Amino acid sequence: MYLDKAERVEFYHSKEWTDLRQQALARDNYECQWCKDEGRVSSGVLEVDHIKDLEHYPEYALDLDNLRTLCKDHHNQRHNRMKYSSKKHRKPPKWDDERWD
Ligand SMILES: [Zn+2]
Repeated sequence: MYLDKAERVEFYHSKEWTDLRQQALARDNYECQWCKDEGRVSSGVLEVDHIKDLEHYPEYALDLDNLRTLCKDHHNQRHNRMKYSSKKHRKPPKWDDERWD
């Protein structure tokens, strides 16, 4: 099974997901699980992550055991959505869709 982007967007707007998302947040005491592992208290926006990603494992989409609370930073890190690394001294891209890697 595979969910394309439009199907995933639809999923994230479903009542089933918004309900389950609240359950996952409550179960995790509204704490980022990775910050907690590092002994820090998470700050900022919390998101609920699919451990088995939604795109490739939609059968686990509504499985509470497949969900974990992550802060926005950790969630971005997990999905490699970080902005380009500050270690690389590159000029900023001229075009929005230009990729460096
Ligand atoms: Zn975190």
